[in-house]
Amino acid sequence: MIIVVKNSCEQGQFNTLVDWIKELGLDVHVSRGEHSTVLGLVGDTSKVDIDLISTLDMVEQVQRVQEPYKNANRKFHPEDTIIDVGGHKIGGDNFNVIAGPCSVESEAQIIEVAKAVKAAGATLLRGGAFKPRTSPYAFQGLKDTGIGLLLKAKEETGLPIVTELLSVSHLDLFKDVDVIQIGARNMQNFELLKEVGKTGKPILLKRGLANTLQELLMSAEYIMAEGDCQVILCERGIRTFETMTRNTLDLSAVPVLKEKTHLPIIIDPSHATGIAKLVEPMSLAAVGAGADGLIIEVHNDPKRALCDGAQSLNPTQFDSLMGKINTMLPIVGKKYDGKN
Ligand code: PEP
Ligand code: MN
Repeated sequence: MIIVVKNSCEQGQFNTLVDWIKELGLDVHVSRGEHSTVLGLVGDTSKVDIDLISTLDMVEQVQRVQEPYKNANRKFHPEDTIIDVGGHKIGGDNFNVIAGPCSVESEAQIIEVAKAVKAAGATLLRGGAFKPRTSPYAFQGLKDTGIGLLLKAKEETGLPIVTELLSVSHLDLFKDVDVIQIGARNMQNFELLKEVGKTGKPILLKRGLANTLQELLMSAEYIMAEGDCQVILCERGIRTFETMTRNTLDLSAVPVLKEKTHLPIIIDPSHATGIAKLVEPMSLAAVGAGADGLIIEVHNDPKRALCDGAQSLNPTQFDSLMGKINTMLPIVGKKYDGKN
């Protein structure tokens, strides 16, 4: 349920209303706008008397929210959420590009790629240390050593780091990680979602291989219900009957999610297509669709990559793509949050 309160009301009256709602056992999420303030009520609202609240002078409107996601709902928080990661703003009219290899492979590799993507204008560095591979015999990542190398790359370049968490038991290793990625395979690992929600860190939540947008929003809700509102949603392609691409990029997710939620939405064209030459057209399409950013796999030597080489750009291709992205951004009213 949301209660829209006029900003002209007295602070004392406002506090009385909020206290009364809390006494009913509900959480109140306050979102202040220019002319009115939205109170988002989370919990069992069956005890709330809508008719009674509607009669209050200070109240402009009371509305039941049908959707099961509350904290993530734009009705609760009409303004875009803007997440600060090491001084970079994600969301609103800002555009960010997260780039780096699928996996951290060695110190030389991650430092070389980090420097190259930074020079091309990436604002954050990605790199997997713990890898969720389909085969148990495939490279599983450098694990804690990989996290250490990412931190080294951060020290060298100043780029905040994004890396995937596979298990709650690894959480201690992630204390200096700037953004924790929850990968597609763990989108509905609810215990993991609850634990990352307790960290208060920015969380990059990827859509599951066969999950609906409502399920993605419910997973964001799990994180937000723990008090962590810094969730970045990521569309990374879904399973369909199509076999010519690794997954099918559901670009309509961007305008649909923009309407439903205030959280930033980024696109991963690398995992969505699985093919390096498709990364550029799909990246530009994502800009056109209104995405808040991209996460792109870049490798210094894609043909020798230990993971996802076929979909990785080399630094030259990435640099050329960044130029095109920057040309397009003004058309969609976005500004690049970094060097361009
Ligand atoms: C990744 O980002 O390397 C990854 C494994 O992504 P996804 O969870 O989207 O497959
Ligand atoms: Mn990958």
